Amino acid sequence: MAMEKLFHFDSPREIYRADACAITCFDARFDLAVRKFLKRRGVVTFDRVKIPGGVKSLAAPECDTDRDFVLRMVRTSMRLHGPERVLIVAHEDCGAYGGAPTDAIVADAVRAAELLRASEPSLAVECYFAGFDGVYRVG
Ligand SMILES: [Zn+2]
Repeated sequence: MAMEKLFHFDSPREIYRADACAITCFDARFDLAVRKFLKRRGVVTFDRVKIPGGVKSLAAPECDTDRDFVLRMVRTSMRLHGPERVLIVAHEDCGAYGGAPTDAIVADAVRAAELLRASEPSLAVECYFAGFDGVYRVG
């Protein structure tokens, strides 16, 4: 197999311990807010499960295998990087919800947090909502 180096950059080789696992949507509008918020919460090194709709796949999956897939990602994070916290960050105007009101999105985030707590009791699950003007605690 041919491999051609196109870019040089030294990445750290040490396995890290994650401060948390964060589950978010892939909506790039909230990337900066989420990263700054996580830092404010003491989360600098983290595994990010970044999927369209975020925890919608846990709370209201289009198919059951979606839920299993997300749970497996969280468990893989736990196994490889030992986070003790999971931060759920839902967000305003999420395309995966097709214009659903904020209440519906927040309700899903809370439901997802409950599901995670039930599935992985050792994890501290925190639940948040990112609006265009900042991040709110929910639940
Ligand atoms: Zn979204």
